[in-house]
Amino acid sequence: MTVITRFAPSPTGRLHVGNLRTALHNWMYAQAQGGRFLLRIDDTDRERSEERFVDAARADLAWMGLVPDGEARQSDRFALYEDRFETLKAAGRVYPAWETAQELELKRKVLLGRGLPPVYDRAALDLSDADRAAFEAEGRSPHWRFRLDHDSAIEWTDLVRGPQRFDPSTMSDPVVRRADGSWLYLLPSVIDDIDMAITHVVRGEDHVSNTATQLQMFAALGAEPPAFAHEALLTGSEGKLSKRLGSLGVDHFREIGIEPQALVALLARIGTSDPVEPQVDPAPLIATFDFGRFGRAPARFDEAELAQLNARIVHQLDHDAVRERLAHGMGEAAWNAIRPNLSTVREAQDWWRVVEGPVPADRAPEDADFLAQAAQVAESIDWSDSPWQALTGALKNATGRKGKSLFLPLRRALTGQDHGPEMAALLPLIGRERALERLKG
Ligand code: GLU
Repeated sequence: MTVITRFAPSPTGRLHVGNLRTALHNWMYAQAQGGRFLLRIDDTDRERSEERFVDAARADLAWMGLVPDGEARQSDRFALYEDRFETLKAAGRVYPAWETAQELELKRKVLLGRGLPPVYDRAALDLSDADRAAFEAEGRSPHWRFRLDHDSAIEWTDLVRGPQRFDPSTMSDPVVRRADGSWLYLLPSVIDDIDMAITHVVRGEDHVSNTATQLQMFAALGAEPPAFAHEALLTGSEGKLSKRLGSLGVDHFREIGIEPQALVALLARIGTSDPVEPQVDPAPLIATFDFGRFGRAPARFDEAELAQLNARIVHQLDHDAVRERLAHGMGEAAWNAIRPNLSTVREAQDWWRVVEGPVPADRAPEDADFLAQAAQVAESIDWSDSPWQALTGALKNATGRKGKSLFLPLRRALTGQDHGPEMAALLPLIGRERALERLKG
């Protein structure tokens, strides 16, 4: 069996971090199993779907390195849905209903008022041919419900949640098609999952009760259902379901200098029993991917943790990986020297400016003699080999200074800052000429 997963966004907005996580897990599982990962655009809602969100979803996935093995759009597939709908209609598994939204709301309120669950009463099933003809004569079109089979419990073993059981008699027959003929999400999704031979549906636990009704749709269409993995949802670092998460997407992460590898490494592991690790290469994350290691508790997405992880990823990136984003002239030696001090790649520019200068004058009056002496020493040392060791070694002997009183005035004069990359790596980049100028002040 070839594993086939799908990520199925509705293009009614940008993908947020929760969507990205779902996409990632679908991709990772397919990768781990040598399977296929499909992008399915759920654009049956033509009014709310927008092409720019389709493009953005593709771009967001590409940024994260998730390349789909195929893509489908629900709006291209209406003929198939129509065909399967006719099958279900002929089998009596979908039925027309004419209640208005207000009537349904009233029924709900009455049931709730009596302390009963607000389950649809199937009144539409009791209509006579004459009743139906009367509605049609009024020019009213029905919406359509899927008739749940109440005979036995709906059960499945969820890859994350374990054994699941629903009593269909406590559930309303779901509306699958609106009166204007448009489709709700439930049935087209099942039809596609069958048609595309999806083996694993990986999605958020907000879909668990949908799965119960969808399992009956698979059966009604004569298909074996896929396996399901419903993941606990994300929460913000404060532990609550946060509105903010819904607004965090790829644009935000790029803007603050987050590398895709950092986002992948975090989203791959939060909510699992495995530690979050700064993996630049997703292969080890994929190799250990296992739904059995996902917990039932919400996964905490902490932006501070992401920032820290990002720094640890940046420290590992090769010059080749970042070359195009660096200041002109910043070569491999410079990158390697500066990299350990960065939280984001963008910050490399700040240190490159320190190398190229000019740097702000930062010299205490009491260090003036010492720096003048340093300038003299700097003129005489061999710059081709470890100039920092040569400079500080000679100055230590000549002045008796050591530790901070030796290093800090030099660092300040040479960089205009009192912290930063290793001077041993930085000084060769600054070079003899600029160093002399800065030491002389
Ligand atoms: N379009 C649905 C959603 O975004 C897809 C759910 C599913 O994966 O089946 O919620």
